[in-house]
Amino acid sequence: MTRKIGDIIKDLEDIVGQEWAITEREYMESYLRDETPESLRPPAAEDLILVKPSSAEEVSRILKVANQILVPVFPVGGRTGLVGGCVPTEPGIILSLERMNKIEVDKENLMAIAEAGATLADLIEAAENADLFFPLHPGDEGAQIGGLISTNAGGVRAVKYGVMRNYVKGVEVVLPTGEILNFGGLLIKNNTGYDLMHLVIGNEGTLCVITKAMIKLYPKSGYSVTLVLPFDSRADAIGAVPKILQSGVIPLAIEYVGIKELNQAAEHLSERWPVQTGSAQLIIILSGSSEDEVYSACEKISEIAEGNNAHEALIAETREEQERILRVRSNIYTALKPRMIDILDVTVPMSRLGDLVNAIEKIAEKYGVYLPVYGHAGDGNLHIHVMKEDGKVPNYVNEIKNDIYSAGVRLGGVITGEHGIGKLRIGEIKKFLTEKEISLMKEIKRIFDPNNILNPGKVLPSG
Ligand SMILES: Cc1cc2nc3c(=O)[nH]c(=O)nc-3n(C[C@H](O)[C@H](O)[C@H](O)COP(=O)(O)OP(=O)(O)OC[C@H]3O[C@@H](n4cnc5c(N)ncnc54)[C@H](O)[C@@H]3O)c2cc1C
Repeated sequence: MTRKIGDIIKDLEDIVGQEWAITEREYMESYLRDETPESLRPPAAEDLILVKPSSAEEVSRILKVANQILVPVFPVGGRTGLVGGCVPTEPGIILSLERMNKIEVDKENLMAIAEAGATLADLIEAAENADLFFPLHPGDEGAQIGGLISTNAGGVRAVKYGVMRNYVKGVEVVLPTGEILNFGGLLIKNNTGYDLMHLVIGNEGTLCVITKAMIKLYPKSGYSVTLVLPFDSRADAIGAVPKILQSGVIPLAIEYVGIKELNQAAEHLSERWPVQTGSAQLIIILSGSSEDEVYSACEKISEIAEGNNAHEALIAETREEQERILRVRSNIYTALKPRMIDILDVTVPMSRLGDLVNAIEKIAEKYGVYLPVYGHAGDGNLHIHVMKEDGKVPNYVNEIKNDIYSAGVRLGGVITGEHGIGKLRIGEIKKFLTEKEISLMKEIKRIFDPNNILNPGKVLPSG
């Protein structure tokens, strides 16, 4: 152990208690990685201490100690990230807020007040117990509130109510220099100066540690159905998406998926995907306050789909059926993972979604590779898996990725709509943002974290 880390063990034990300051490598193994595919996963440093504080005050004291002797601090959440964002890549402190997991529901204000270490599953359950609803559903329910906010997570149910940013109304944060601050509150409106709350949403653990948040909840919708619409061509499926959104119906989710990927996910779960017609499918979740409202939306969508040459739709009404469909959809990633090199999440304006799918098809042809494409069509956000060939990483993998990013940006899009930059995409941020944008970001980082102790080497290129 280096002198610096060795020197602060006692201080950290005094702050969190001896049992919550862990130095044995075997007890911190699962904190050394996230869900980034193995071949790309950044390696963790050797010299690390894992601390698990129980309050914002303890987080503040930890950061003050670290800032004083310039030891890096790596905030971790549920470690479900896909770009190595939480990986402790330098000797330092791994900061896990998992003990800070309380959630209170304020029914009058329709908000949850959640500590950062509570998981997405905890939040869904707390809302449900209060007869309310947290609609957003990024695929892994082990993600924590701090991670969801720090990555501005999206997911399947973002079409109607937006992404994490649209739910967060207040945050308690601790700056790398130790100050505890509150931005926003149980408020729907707030125009008091620059919006620091929205600046820290999506900061990927580089500006501050999020310790608590006020999160908007919704009344439970009385009724919901899930539609599966099969099409023979990608163009027909994708072409139906803007028409559905223009019709005035706002679904909770519009997902585009190929039957090949759905069958692989169903097989992975030892299930059978219920719709075997059509190679390209849309999964649409509708919710509303009454059966009539949802059925009239269903009819409108079915008419649009028919006009776009859809086969007969499956309408799932029971909760079990709907959960099964979402489960298969959420497991495409897991089913493809063993053969996957990387998962990209390029996002384009809705009107260019079809062009993006065509561009990816051409890239797949150019390199003669299988590029599974699926995702949040209602948000213009697609997941593109770059796969191994015969179990190996082809030597042109960076060219494939670069072609996909360039196609997205050429179509008015961005290289990531969900997963963020983390450690993995720093090379790309240099290529696809202007120098001025990067220098503004670096200035902001310097103001929040003058000694660069919080999650160093992430998001922004060095130098
Ligand atoms: C199967 C699967 C499906 C997924 N589907 C989606 C999806 O649909 N949409 C989507 O957006 N993402 C998705 N993800 C990615 C991931 O779940 C999200 O990025 C999630 O928000 C990460 O949360 P986490 O708690 O696991 O964060 P971690 O992975 O632990 O950390 C992510 C980043 O947040 C920082 N961080 C964590 N906690 C704090 C804190 N308290 N304060 C400050 N910084 C902090 C870390 O330093 C790191 O930079 C998926 C991942 C998997 C494995």
